[in-house]
Amino acid sequence: MFIPTVKEVPSDAETISHKLMVRAGLMRKVASGTYTYLPLGWRSLLKVIEIVRDEMNKAGAQEILMPALQPIELWQKTGRDVDYGETMCRLTDRHGRENVLGPTAEEVVTYLVAGEIKSYKQLPVNLYQISPKFRDEFRPRFGPIRSREFIMKDAYSFHADPKCLDGTYKVMYDTYCHIFKRCGLEYVIVEAEVGEMGGSNSHQFTVPCESGEDTIVYTEDGSYAANLERAAVDPLPKQKTEDGRQKAEEVHTPNIGSIEAVCAFLKTKPKDMVKTLIYTAQNDTIVALVRGDHDVNPEKLTQVLGGKHIELANEATIEKVTGAKVGFAGPMTIADKVSRMIIDYAVAAMAAGVTGANKTDYHVKNVVPGRDFPLEGDNINIADIRYAVEGDTYNGKKLLFKKGIEVGQVFKLGTKYSEKLGAKFLDENGHEKPCIMGCYGIGINRILAAAIEISNDKNGIIWPISIAPFEVIITCVNQDDPEVAGVAEDIYKKLLNSNIDVLLDDRDQRGGVKFKDADLIGIPVRVTVGRKSVADGNVEIKLRTELKSQTIPIEKAANKTIELINSLKEN
Ligand code: ATP
Ligand code: MG
Repeated sequence: MFIPTVKEVPSDAETISHKLMVRAGLMRKVASGTYTYLPLGWRSLLKVIEIVRDEMNKAGAQEILMPALQPIELWQKTGRDVDYGETMCRLTDRHGRENVLGPTAEEVVTYLVAGEIKSYKQLPVNLYQISPKFRDEFRPRFGPIRSREFIMKDAYSFHADPKCLDGTYKVMYDTYCHIFKRCGLEYVIVEAEVGEMGGSNSHQFTVPCESGEDTIVYTEDGSYAANLERAAVDPLPKQKTEDGRQKAEEVHTPNIGSIEAVCAFLKTKPKDMVKTLIYTAQNDTIVALVRGDHDVNPEKLTQVLGGKHIELANEATIEKVTGAKVGFAGPMTIADKVSRMIIDYAVAAMAAGVTGANKTDYHVKNVVPGRDFPLEGDNINIADIRYAVEGDTYNGKKLLFKKGIEVGQVFKLGTKYSEKLGAKFLDENGHEKPCIMGCYGIGINRILAAAIEISNDKNGIIWPISIAPFEVIITCVNQDDPEVAGVAEDIYKKLLNSNIDVLLDDRDQRGGVKFKDADLIGIPVRVTVGRKSVADGNVEIKLRTELKSQTIPIEKAANKTIELINSLKEN
């Protein structure tokens, strides 16, 4: 068996799961964000895949396989070649045709359905695949959590009416609960933003843990939970201070552009500053105002702009709009020069603040919203466009924050893809309509990493039995003693015959080395066969989660092991 366990931790491994997956010989890095899964790692991935497949089939979804290599034209039809930007791996083939390596497969599956489904009688249909996906992530890290090639289960449902989609969405939602539970994960479900997918409604399944890259925002009573991209906040109450009485006053701030630098120089606080950010959306220029201690949430801003794809403006555009170098943009005198000005509630609630002066090396003090820059107008909106922060409330309840790993997400897509790719059907009255779609993704590799992240100790992995590479390990302590080796072999065969996933450690190694490895690779049950106990007619059985072992007569060892495995599975 090829299980290359190692003591050294790779220098690029930041998370516990990444470290343990390398140390336990589950995987090896090939290049940034790409990994070879070794026998143990692949066995676990296959177990996750089997659980996912079983639950998807039970839910009435049907498995297919689509190509990872996809023509760019399909992506151009939906505009997502632009939305995915550099995250999409692109390549030109020998005939000069441009292709992508699919980061997901809405386009391909909708193209399929467009060609095959003609009538409402053929609907609904829910198709899924379990296949490699490619994303040229800006910063691949944390091993399988953010890699450039990973296995995803992606499902796509097609419906004749929204009610039918609602039904399948609920079935998928429940199916996800079953899947993650069977994988032994503790998870939370949060409202999520639709992002590049588009559509109207989405939930994310997240495993809370310290090293997660996602932030879950929730209220203590459980009445609200959303991811940070989505989390809404209550508008802040209007501030009443004396500052607003003074006249706006320009101050010289040479080479001082950042919020921190301005605060230090003018002895003010970020919360008393207005940040002015300039975005572009195709030919439009948009100004967004948030408080100095807040950050623009691009997802929320996109929503306010009706779903337009936005990007931070480049230096040239900023200088053109503000007439100043980057770092000195401000809300005064800017509204007329841009397509839209979107003001966060918290800015509108300020009594007065410090802003850029739209003049290189200058800021303005005592700027009063509504007096020194407009809060109303044809191209002006006040909206919630920032990330929630500590201290915010929603529906009057305090918001709490927690880190987590996103393992799956479900979306109601609507007709965005079916309209653009012509997936239409004739309804009962002979009218042509676009199919209504849902899509449902699960990150297979992330499930493994998340499971390890929440279940390990200083000695190694502690697998949930359902996705452990092996259920039992038989550790033969005295391989050189034929009687001991014979007992170990005998129990091994009995377990094999009972369809137990069993690993026999018959290496010529000291007991200590074998115990260390068994703990590191995290097999849930260990049967220890050593000279001393065999002489008394016994073996030792120990759970990975417990320190103490139980002494069991040799002839009962196999049955007792099966009993333990069954009770672990039931839990
Ligand atoms: P993220 O926000 O973490 O980048 P995403 O929301 O873009 O992920 P989806 O498009 O929803 O991802 O993809 C479905 C699932 O695929 C995710 O829930 C996640 O489990 C998994 N996944 C996405 N990107 C990666 C990646 N780079 N490496 C491993 N798994 C990933
Ligand atoms: Mg997602």
